[in-house]
Amino acid sequence: MISASSAACSAYGACDLFAKGDLRPCSIVIFGGSGDLAARKLIPALYNLFIHDALPDPINIVGASRTVMSDEVFKDRLYGFLIEQVEVDQQRWLEFSKKLFYQAITYDNGDSYLELADFLDGLDQKNNTLKNRMFYLAVPPSLYPVIGAHLGQAGLAVEGKDGEDWARIVVEKPFGRDLDSARELERILHDSFNEHQIFRIDHYLAKETVQNILMLRFANTIFEPLWNRSFIDHVGIVTTEKLGVEHRAGYYEQSGVLRDMFQNHLMQLLALTAMEPPSHFVAERVQDEKVKVFRALKPLNIDNHHDNLILGQYAAGMIDNQPVCGYRDESGVTPDSLTPTFAMLRVYIDNWRWRNVPFYLVSGKRMERKETKIVIQFKNVPHSMFRNVLDENILANRLILGVYPEEKISLSFQTKNPGAKECLRPVTMDFKYNSVISKTELGAYEMVLLDCILGDHMLFWRQDGVELSWSFITPVLQFCENCLMNKDDLQFYPAGSLGPEKSQEMINLLMKG
Ligand code: NDP
Repeated sequence: MISASSAACSAYGACDLFAKGDLRPCSIVIFGGSGDLAARKLIPALYNLFIHDALPDPINIVGASRTVMSDEVFKDRLYGFLIEQVEVDQQRWLEFSKKLFYQAITYDNGDSYLELADFLDGLDQKNNTLKNRMFYLAVPPSLYPVIGAHLGQAGLAVEGKDGEDWARIVVEKPFGRDLDSARELERILHDSFNEHQIFRIDHYLAKETVQNILMLRFANTIFEPLWNRSFIDHVGIVTTEKLGVEHRAGYYEQSGVLRDMFQNHLMQLLALTAMEPPSHFVAERVQDEKVKVFRALKPLNIDNHHDNLILGQYAAGMIDNQPVCGYRDESGVTPDSLTPTFAMLRVYIDNWRWRNVPFYLVSGKRMERKETKIVIQFKNVPHSMFRNVLDENILANRLILGVYPEEKISLSFQTKNPGAKECLRPVTMDFKYNSVISKTELGAYEMVLLDCILGDHMLFWRQDGVELSWSFITPVLQFCENCLMNKDDLQFYPAGSLGPEKSQEMINLLMKG
């Protein structure tokens, strides 16, 4: 176990969870305000920021969707979801709820947006909220271009000079469903908004442990000299879950695991693990380096795809000792669906640092456990001077960056077992975040909302990154869709297992520790 020095923390002034900058009064409009994301993630995150005095004051939070309801009904509904998730202080809720408003809208009707503009102007005058606006698209992706275009036509994307009266649009994943649709979405959004106004969310980027990847690599001298093909045998990036498709079959049938997890979250984890150090820790510089990783990705070797790509779909099995049905028997899934719920990709980054180092990207639903981690597997020692006294191979060093369930950094190495006989024992040195962090946790949605209010793009995707990521994944998707037509390549795995048999050896290896 490792302890942390609190002195180092305060000396750099880096420990204040919320105080990040100038929070200007603004209005946040949540399109899809009647929906799941708004109720379960966005409003609880805004409430959490509010009770920590981390929201601008004044602020208006406006739900906008087709459902007609009063402000009061909107607030009651949100309150119902909130008390299921957190302990709510009644007095603070009363203060917070005064900032909540609701405006019914027809997404494809221009007049509706003019009414919204008037409504926001009215709130600005009444509450002194200035003309700063964030438009959050918490709606099905098919509505992103519709809303983006109408906001532009209603003049709601126009900004003042020198950062006054900002207008920002926040887009949830998925950003398109392939390269062409991502470009088309971009074209429409860019008709109304400039790149600096567009915030493409990947909430994985806002996880503390994910952000810490860059700190670990570039705020220490001991890791970076080893972080390359000379010392690293392979890298595993794993994110598995126990849950099945739940109530999202409609979305998942269209998306599958490659669009749902690989194009976005796994590609970001890959970029953070593999990128070169930027010259400054500012959004543009970090994005530049990430983009170089995407650009260097070697296209998947389709001819030899069995070594590089394993696809699976969960069949019936047991989760937590309870029987669960297979994917094809889930409500809303077609009985002969070929949608993959599991994938393992072996990818290579064609550059000096990573030549010939395989990166295994793994994600699956209904797996044995819920876990997200990055495994850095170092090479074997080049020469074993202990071979005459040891009858076994020496286990190579391994560094694990745990994101979930344990937020940790864990390094395994060899020590001598006490006693007269020469014998090695692998041990692990663990740093667990919860052992040193006692403050209120700042969730991923709090982070992205706060950064968007501040105009900081660090935790968001830039368009060139989106396109390069799709450029890599789209041929894989096309190949999968073609090869799945032959029904040869989709392997079924029992729910609650480690995935398809073909991938189990590697997954077993990656899951250790
Ligand atoms: P919902 O299905 O709950 O939809 C949000 C709102 O959009 C609904 O309340 C509804 O409001 C409106 N809506 C739904 N379907 C249609 C339709 N066919 N036509 C017009 N309006 C429609 O979505 P979520 O809140 O779950 O997700 C919103 C976005 O965020 C999606 O893009 C999703 O992929 C993404 N996302 C969601 C996550 C989550 O945890 N829920 C996590 C990560 C991303 P009304 O009928 O009142 O207009």
